[in-house]
Amino acid sequence: MAINLRLARNLYTRIKAGLSGRGFNPPLRCAQLFGNCQLSTVNSMSMFDVVAIGAGMAGLMCARQLRQAGYAVAVVEKSRGPGGRVATRRVQGGRADHGARYLEPQGDAVRGLIEDLVDRDLLKLWTDTVGEFRNGEIAAIPKSCYAAPDGMNAIGKYLAEGLDIWYGRRVQAISRTDNQMWHLALEVTDGNLDKPQESIAKAVVVAIPAPQALMFLDSDIGLQPDFLDKLRSIEYDPCIAAIAGYPAAKQQDLDSLNPLRKSVFFPDNSDLDWIGLDSSKRIDLSQPVFVVHSSAVFAERYLEAVNLEVAGRELLDRAAEYLMPWLKEPEWLQVHRWRYAFCRNSLPVACLPAGGNLPLVCAGDLCGGDSLPDSFASRIDGALRSGLAAANWVNSQLSETGV
Ligand SMILES: Cc1cc2nc3c(=O)[nH]c(=O)nc-3n(C[C@H](O)[C@H](O)[C@H](O)COP(=O)(O)OP(=O)(O)OC[C@H]3O[C@@H](n4cnc5c(N)ncnc54)[C@H](O)[C@@H]3O)c2cc1C
Repeated sequence: MAINLRLARNLYTRIKAGLSGRGFNPPLRCAQLFGNCQLSTVNSMSMFDVVAIGAGMAGLMCARQLRQAGYAVAVVEKSRGPGGRVATRRVQGGRADHGARYLEPQGDAVRGLIEDLVDRDLLKLWTDTVGEFRNGEIAAIPKSCYAAPDGMNAIGKYLAEGLDIWYGRRVQAISRTDNQMWHLALEVTDGNLDKPQESIAKAVVVAIPAPQALMFLDSDIGLQPDFLDKLRSIEYDPCIAAIAGYPAAKQQDLDSLNPLRKSVFFPDNSDLDWIGLDSSKRIDLSQPVFVVHSSAVFAERYLEAVNLEVAGRELLDRAAEYLMPWLKEPEWLQVHRWRYAFCRNSLPVACLPAGGNLPLVCAGDLCGGDSLPDSFASRIDGALRSGLAAANWVNSQLSETGV
């Protein structure tokens, strides 16, 4: 494993230097454009070389790369923290991962990231075998699953270090300025009015799910029909995540639990996709916590439901049928709906430039559909690679225009 990780680090470094092995040529011209500070404010409007929309894996990776190259970069994020779907939430007395379950060393970018995070004690091998429930039995599948004891959002926090990120800002509209730049209108989602509500950038990276991007990308701002059609063709599976805590006394039952049951997939089940013993990722364990992910078919039924508790209870009933009967009686339950959980048909490109004379590119798990055979395990890797590809593309565009 150590040798593999070293190899991965080399690949990661190469990827960071340019996906195809080309040198990433930092133009270091932002100081010329905006003076010596990273951010310049003109009439309370903040100007950057590049604005990345979305602080998920793709947006963060892209922004890091461009910042290292010397560009003035801001990331605009509608929620309160980094990581996107690699998410953790506070639950009674601790935290639980209601988004991505773990990182798997499949793909060069994610392997390198795993190595960095393991070196910093932010990530640990959670399990090397997962269960797969088929025909009433659990089969053992070898898989190296790395999880963060402090929660998977530690990954986003690590990638976000040193970046200028505007949390609580949702991009509402984009338009072109008279002097050929992008103008972004931002909606305040956290009540904090300290940061500006608009921004100007030479280039924009849209690192969010396609349907969310299509809320402000359209032909009115000069985008080509071909580009918009590609975005419209991308589909997502939803997922409902039930997060449930159980009495501390139940820990005894779990101490003798077959390790396979820490992480169980249900490939043929109409309601369930996965069940994980989330508390086994933590060091400061106070009570057993399970996370149950629904199938897409199940989530579709609750896409517009106002009260998600019903869906959560139903998922726990199913979980109780297959694992332990007491799973249906939690001490507490939280439920989260992911409308765009898994990209179903990502495009066979590293990133998706819009075309036209102003640089705009889409990135994220909506790209990279051709990169790895195991498309499930490669989603985070795909998002990271796509972020890097978008950074390279932006760099080539801004270099051409002399920024
Ligand atoms: C329940 C679940 C389990 C998963 N498990 C795994 C797994 O085990 N392995 C794996 O490889 N993948 C897994 N995935 C998929 C993986 O998490 C995603 O593919 C990947 O994180 C996508 O990263 P991204 O940067 O493309 O997008 P996102 O993570 O979606 O990031 C986009 C960000 O943009 C923000 N945003 C959206 N619209 C706007 C706007 N208008 N203005 C400002 N900000 C905006 C969002 O708040 C978000 O933070 C899972 C996903 C879910 C939901």
